Amino acid sequence: MTAQIIDGRAIANAIKEEVKEDVAALKAQGTQVGLAVILVGDDPASHVYVGSKIKACEAAGIESFEHRMAENCTEQDIRHVIKNLNGNPNVHGILMQLPLPDHLLDVQEKLVQMIAPEKDVDGLTITNAGKLFLAHGDGHVPCTPQGCMHLIRSVTPDLRGKTATVIGRSNLFGKPMGQLLAQADCTVNMVHRYTKDLIAASKNADILVVATGNVDLIKAEHVKAGAIVIDVGINRVPSDNPDKKWKIVGDVDYEAVKEVAGYITPVPGGVGPTTIACLLANTVKAATI
Ligand code: NAD
Repeated sequence: MTAQIIDGRAIANAIKEEVKEDVAALKAQGTQVGLAVILVGDDPASHVYVGSKIKACEAAGIESFEHRMAENCTEQDIRHVIKNLNGNPNVHGILMQLPLPDHLLDVQEKLVQMIAPEKDVDGLTITNAGKLFLAHGDGHVPCTPQGCMHLIRSVTPDLRGKTATVIGRSNLFGKPMGQLLAQADCTVNMVHRYTKDLIAASKNADILVVATGNVDLIKAEHVKAGAIVIDVGINRVPSDNPDKKWKIVGDVDYEAVKEVAGYITPVPGGVGPTTIACLLANTVKAATI
């Protein structure tokens, strides 16, 4: 069997089209949707991510407010920016690109929690995490797991009774992913670095979602025949193309696993595009609450 590839770009484009229509409708009613992005420091990957988010905002008609802050800025400087954005009626969503530089890592969580929950389009505040946990529909759900649900539902709309394994249990991804799958009536298994038998934990999954940051962690032997495999990992490895120094790969041994799985997401072109599309969708939602 060779797996069907789940085309994240196509699914993201469909979401972006809906967002564009919603943004235009809100504009016609007098609301220009706006997203503020806070980027601290010089990390090249963060600059690339922020660049694509801003480009996607422009394409959807969302106004972006960029706050690029120096590598050596202080906690106080960032607090000041967040406070102003919380009070700015033109800004409906606030995104702070993570991680912050090393000297701010100790206060990163405190700064995230300063963002007004209704503008927290990354869904990282305690209020939004609690709303997700209690299945209140009015909170913001983190963008990457939300995007993964679109990818999974594109091939299996009814998830009731499926066995799902999520590998990785971060606040940003694994925990909210587990909640969303449980709310879709899956039986969820959450796996992490201390799980004793990774093969046993993943082999029975109808849906296997992998987010650990380990190249080729998941091989054919980890995957049930016909399973849906969602690869969230982003890892930079040396490129075999002489024109490029690096290439991006996921956590799944794609070539081997696609011979066993029923459906698989590629890296790049799988989870990444839907993450950005869901950020735009959350921003529109923020403009209506
Ligand atoms: P994290 O470092 O916070 O968490 C990693 C998780 O993986 C931990 O829970 C850890 O216990 C688990 N883990 C690590 N090694 C393991 C192993 N050998 N076996 C089982 N579990 C193991 O990372 P994160 O923020 O959740 O991100 C995970 C990956 O997903 C990274 O590669 C990140 O770049 C990527 N990511 C991609 C997107 C996207 O839009 N495509 C968004 C967020 C994160």
